[in-house]
Amino acid sequence: MQIPGHIDPVTTGTVPLRGGNRIDLVGLTRDGVRAALEEAGLDAKAAKLRAKQIWHWIYHRGVTDFDAMTDIAKAMRPWLTERFIVGRPTVVTAQVSNDGTRKWLLAAADGQEYEMVFIPDADRGTLCVSSQVGCTLNCRFCHTGTMRLVRNLSAGEIVGQVLLARDALGEWPKGTMASSADIEDEDDDAGHYTADGRMLTNIVMMGMGEPLYNFDEVKGALKIVMDGDGLALSKRRITLSTSGVVPMMARAGEEIGVNLAVSLHAVNKEVRDEIVPLNRKYGIEQLLEACAAYPGANNARRITFEYVMLKDKNDSDADARELVRLIKQYRLPAKVNLIPFNPWPGAPYECSSPERVRAFSNLIFEAGISAPIRTPRGRDIMAACGQLKSAATKPTRAELDRIAEEKQAALG
Ligand code: SAH
Ligand code: SF4
Repeated sequence: MQIPGHIDPVTTGTVPLRGGNRIDLVGLTRDGVRAALEEAGLDAKAAKLRAKQIWHWIYHRGVTDFDAMTDIAKAMRPWLTERFIVGRPTVVTAQVSNDGTRKWLLAAADGQEYEMVFIPDADRGTLCVSSQVGCTLNCRFCHTGTMRLVRNLSAGEIVGQVLLARDALGEWPKGTMASSADIEDEDDDAGHYTADGRMLTNIVMMGMGEPLYNFDEVKGALKIVMDGDGLALSKRRITLSTSGVVPMMARAGEEIGVNLAVSLHAVNKEVRDEIVPLNRKYGIEQLLEACAAYPGANNARRITFEYVMLKDKNDSDADARELVRLIKQYRLPAKVNLIPFNPWPGAPYECSSPERVRAFSNLIFEAGISAPIRTPRGRDIMAACGQLKSAATKPTRAELDRIAEEKQAALG
């Protein structure tokens, strides 16, 4: 699909199938699974029945081996195994932060690498999912934006992150927890790893990439995540974050329907043009109008404005007051998330002082708008917001500038 103002990700050739000639069923729609079975030779009725069974095993039970699908005739299982796989991304590295945050570096079948982060909290567990390898945009404060090589992740690669997280956390219904042994010091009956009291309760599309530049695959993946006979996560527990791809926002609301977060980060053109270069294409007014029109946003389901705190750049009292004024002018059901800037090697900004962040937050709260300060999570393993980057290279300042220029030129 052509998106206005879209910069096509760098293509990386055809992605080889993980299972050789076999088709990976992960990421196909329900109807896609049925069609694949029919194409492989099942008659329409059998394909429909088997698709329903297989769907349940893949997304409700977390099974990757057809032999474990016990309600499928024994004779049919080798037939399935010869033709299909239920894939997972390859784990390259898995790290645990001293605050309990976990980060995985994953590899796709073509070797492209991307990251996923799990953030446990007292009342929830949030999986931060990537939508692209790298990002075609180049927000100046974001590590991912300094990556050159980019491709979109497929729906299977996106939903595969959720499946893998469930594997690693050992939270498939009992009896199928093949990888629960990975979790140290947990005996099999540990209460919080059951299907009912799950650790993974929320998903945020806030990993690598701009999800609205990969609309179709992100939509396909989230539809699977929300499917009632599978992972069954409520749309109220899923948040999609965009840097402001205005032409796609209404469709995101209508066709996906999850919570919206918008990376605002600045309240005037000059600063936002500099730190979120997409602003030169879709300015603040346009963006806030699109927020006001976002389907499903109301006082019970507010739009989150993300605001990274950059020292002497966007953190003055006047900025806070202007933010309040804009939210009120556009009558937005909004809350503000203040994110202390997370540093990375070569970053051109510093984080505002804690006192400055507190003062900024207070000004917004005083105007009746919620503006909590986010506690950075997983900084020690470079897992915090904006620190993700899969290539281990450390480009020079000149190289970073060149990448920024290239991306800006592509944006037009
Ligand atoms: N591309 C999407 C989603 C991924 S980024 C977007 O930009 O919205 C998730 C959030 O982290 C965004 O709000 C992003 O602006 C913010 N972020 C990026 N780099 C950061 C950094 N170094 N410190 C703090 N937040 C950062
Ligand atoms: Fe891309 Fe989001 Fe990073 Fe901007 S903040 S470069 S849109 S991942």
